[in-house]
Amino acid sequence: MGQKMETKMYCQTGKGAFIAVFEELEREEWYAMEAKPLPVEKPAEKPAGKPSLLQRLGLAFSTKPTTPSYNPPKKHVKGAFFMGDMKCPFCGNQGFVKCGACGELTCFPENGKHFKCIPCGNEGEVSGTISDMDGSMDNQRRSDSSLNRPDGQRKNGPTLR
Ligand SMILES: [Zn+2]
Ligand SMILES: [Zn+2]
Repeated sequence: MGQKMETKMYCQTGKGAFIAVFEELEREEWYAMEAKPLPVEKPAEKPAGKPSLLQRLGLAFSTKPTTPSYNPPKKHVKGAFFMGDMKCPFCGNQGFVKCGACGELTCFPENGKHFKCIPCGNEGEVSGTISDMDGSMDNQRRSDSSLNRPDGQRKNGPTLR
């Protein structure tokens, strides 16, 4: 209970993509609760002006953040997926569809019928329900913090060798 999963979702209008945060409110019942717009992916900027000496020598560390990319390890989750409080941040749609061809998610009007997949172009009538999804679980931080507890106590668990 209370587990969260994040997965990428595209806006049906093609305006952009966002991270949909699903929360397991009941056992194996996942609700989309929150949408976090992804930064627009820009082509890499070329540095203006002459390279510095360090850059010419190949010794400079890049201080700019690298191009944002969303590529955490994926986990396959089975269950039922519902729309919770989430709305598409681009068009306000309150539904979503999983493409049968590429498996990507796209926002969709609740009463819509004809669907066109943004990432792969597949289109057709919407049918059935989503019974599984690939997402990334938000449990990395939790295990980190348990390792850093000041009393040094850890829960029993598998030993990594
Ligand atoms: Zn949308
Ligand atoms: Zn597709």
